[in-house]
Amino acid sequence: MNNEKGAASSVPTLDVANVTPRIARAAVLRTEGGPLSLEEVVLAELADDEVLVRIAGVGVCHTDISAAEGLVPLPLPAVLGHEGAGVVEAVGTAVSNLVPGDHVVLTFGFCGECDTCTDKTPAYCDLFGPLNYFGERLDGSVTLRFGGEEIHGNWFGQSSFASMAIANSRNAIRVPKDLPLQLLGPFGCGLQTGAGAVMNVMRPSTGDSLAVFGMGAVGLAAVMAGKALGCAPIIAIDINEARLETARALGATHCVNPTQTDDVVWEVMQMAPKGIDHSLDAVGSNAVIRQALEILGSPGHCVTLGFEGMEHDITIDQGHLLLGRRLSGVIEGDADPRTFIPVLIQLYRDGKFPFDRLIATFPFNQINEAIAASKRGDVIKPVVVFE
Ligand SMILES: [Zn+2]
Ligand SMILES: [Zn+2]
Repeated sequence: MNNEKGAASSVPTLDVANVTPRIARAAVLRTEGGPLSLEEVVLAELADDEVLVRIAGVGVCHTDISAAEGLVPLPLPAVLGHEGAGVVEAVGTAVSNLVPGDHVVLTFGFCGECDTCTDKTPAYCDLFGPLNYFGERLDGSVTLRFGGEEIHGNWFGQSSFASMAIANSRNAIRVPKDLPLQLLGPFGCGLQTGAGAVMNVMRPSTGDSLAVFGMGAVGLAAVMAGKALGCAPIIAIDINEARLETARALGATHCVNPTQTDDVVWEVMQMAPKGIDHSLDAVGSNAVIRQALEILGSPGHCVTLGFEGMEHDITIDQGHLLLGRRLSGVIEGDADPRTFIPVLIQLYRDGKFPFDRLIATFPFNQINEAIAASKRGDVIKPVVVFE
């Protein structure tokens, strides 16, 4: 399934900026929990600040699966997909930062103007909900339709489970053309989430200890980032032996499999008797968050990223927390994608962020199989590719 092919080398020469209607093949979610159905959709005219992107590849992220199962309120029918990468085909009249032919990674939507956006943490944009989860533009218009039916697009400002997508010029991040474009989409969410939690939030010093719970793409990105920053030891925790092996290959110095021990906390503490400096929860369950806190030294910092639904109560030991321990919730790795994705790409070029080892590719018409493989845990990061 692994696809070693490099970037799509051909840049479109046809100026399609004003060709209408623009028809794309899209994977449409019509019923909660149902399979995605492959359909043709018609894309709207670009707004002034939007770009049209021909998708080369798009990652499947846990949040897409959560939304398909109804854990995120999104009106249906809708097109999911929020780790798209592709080639800019056309730009709106007010777009000055991109031109047709540019290679881009699509990331989450943000307004660029509110206090948090201008403070370089656009993941907490005042308009994050409307720009990413509502399935329409801020003015209420939809970007996709077929026949008389409106189809909700604009999922994470892109809806890239489709051969073409409309994004805002802000959340289309230009990347160099010599990279494997089909595989780059996960930089837009999963990879920056895990790596950003370490590099932007924990900010470990060389020699700090790091423990990561959950060896999906997010957790493994955190392991790679921890290694790149010189963390030691780096302890990977997961119930899947194959994923622990991957973690070891990517920089984990120790692995713990909770199915093979009665006491995960004790096992981890054997490797860091004074407690762990930084722990990361990429699972989201109460049990894992408690463990991620219990292994901390004093002081210590636990970052939780795992999404378990919009309302998810947990219980923790406040007395334990008081000893200089912190619990932080983080989305999108606190990253400003405009600056952080280039940082990660440079790490990849330097051989310190081999993200492609997490990826298995599937043709677009097997997108439901890609999702099933992700749910089963057979594949760490499925990427659906277009030929
Ligand atoms: Zn904003
Ligand atoms: Zn995501």
